[in-house]
Amino acid sequence: MEFIRETGYLLSALLFIIGIKYMSNPSTAIKGNFLSFIGMFIAVVCSFFYTQVHFDNIWFILFAILLGGVVGNYLANSVKFTEMPQMVSFFNGMGGLTIALIAIIEFFNNIGNRFFVISAGFSGVIGSISFVGSMLAMAKLWGFFEKAKKSSLIRIFNLIILILIIIFYVVLVLNPQQIVGISSFYLLVFLFLLGGLLGLSGVFPIGGADMPVVIALLNAFTGLAASIGGFAINNNAMIVSGTLVGASGTILTFLMAKAMNRSVFSVILGGFGVTKKEEITSKGSVQQITPEDAAVLLVYSKKVIIVPGYGMAVSNAQNEVHELEEILEKRGVEVKYAIHPVAGRMPGHMNVLLAEAKVDYSKLYEMEQINPEFRNTDVVLIVGANDIVNPAAKNNPNSPLYGMPILEVDQAENIIFMKRSLNPGFAGVENELFFNPKTRMLFGDAKETLKKLIQEIKNI
Ligand code: NDP
Repeated sequence: MEFIRETGYLLSALLFIIGIKYMSNPSTAIKGNFLSFIGMFIAVVCSFFYTQVHFDNIWFILFAILLGGVVGNYLANSVKFTEMPQMVSFFNGMGGLTIALIAIIEFFNNIGNRFFVISAGFSGVIGSISFVGSMLAMAKLWGFFEKAKKSSLIRIFNLIILILIIIFYVVLVLNPQQIVGISSFYLLVFLFLLGGLLGLSGVFPIGGADMPVVIALLNAFTGLAASIGGFAINNNAMIVSGTLVGASGTILTFLMAKAMNRSVFSVILGGFGVTKKEEITSKGSVQQITPEDAAVLLVYSKKVIIVPGYGMAVSNAQNEVHELEEILEKRGVEVKYAIHPVAGRMPGHMNVLLAEAKVDYSKLYEMEQINPEFRNTDVVLIVGANDIVNPAAKNNPNSPLYGMPILEVDQAENIIFMKRSLNPGFAGVENELFFNPKTRMLFGDAKETLKKLIQEIKNI
């Protein structure tokens, strides 16, 4: 039995690793996802091959697996593409909650076992932080809690909670059985509640350019919690899959922090960037352009760079963007895409959408690669992006975006902004680029406007 289980776990670990490797390229990502799915399926099946465990509640377990499968399948099929980041946060949070619950439930099988208390206590606290933090991140992605205020008090509060967690954890580890009248079980639960509180107060004040860093960090936390939880209950599949998630989440966190020019530590302590809608204060008048004039400008250009953002996802306009690219290239225009690391609402959001629309991956350029090219560009076409091109990130030290590197579109000869209004983006910061003399606003839903633009180009 043990041989079958451990061989199955080894196979699933291999499939996870190959799956992640395949996911690093859009052309093989679907295959990578499928291989990881098979790996997880094998791991779940092999978990039944535990000789020392009596599955007297087997029907209950099978029913829970079936229920989870049906709900997961329904959510995955019905979720709108724009709500994908929220769903990812939700699943991540569920992972954290599961680890904390496993620690609590397994407690009674391991009374007095110090190794269990060390590992389960640690993984449960991290899991609780991840659960509450991810639920709050999901709510923020839906636009709740926009008025969260920046305050240095919250940093002190977070620090106090962190110190309390460390104290109670040490007490628990030193006295795994009984602590002056308090059962260590209640102490474990209390510790997890403190972890949840830290997740709440840690994520609550965060907004603006810090959100992507926090989301990646919570992802890493869930992986770490699962991996240490695997040690607590001696499950190799959990250790391997948790380590993979934890390691990739950590790499992503540092990449995001680097891209945002933030220190991970200041983000963890909370309250760096805030989500706060600014009042729109007019900085002059904006110039508009019609689809007819925009079509002429684009067709007679030598080089066009398209900057996709969250609005492209909202409007589901990636296919039209690709059609525009093809039609311009047929007219001899060179077209490239500029991809900001936090465009959209989840890491790689734009890459996924453009891959879905079958845009050639070699046309996608990262920020460092494309920034020097804007000065030789005739037209930059911004499709539903805002924060990632907002000069406030460079010019306004009070802005929640301040310090974040942006796509330097103002270097181009002409800027066409496609969006529905002068409303700000996720960080709630007014964009002075709207008032730049080189900028022309092409108002409307991105998909509808692109259709008109394509038609106008065909008419030329
Ligand atoms: P923004 O949120 O800054 O701007 C998106 C713009 O799209 C809005 O200003 C909106 O303007 C416009 N828009 C919305 N719907 C449509 C539509 N149907 N048609 C046309 N335009 C539309 O997006 P960016 O991609 O520029 O920046 C991403 C932001 O999200 C950053 O602040 C980043 O920190 C944050 N973030 C990113 C995460 C990630 O992992 N990538 C995770 C969490 C947050 P209007 O209403 O006028 O149309």
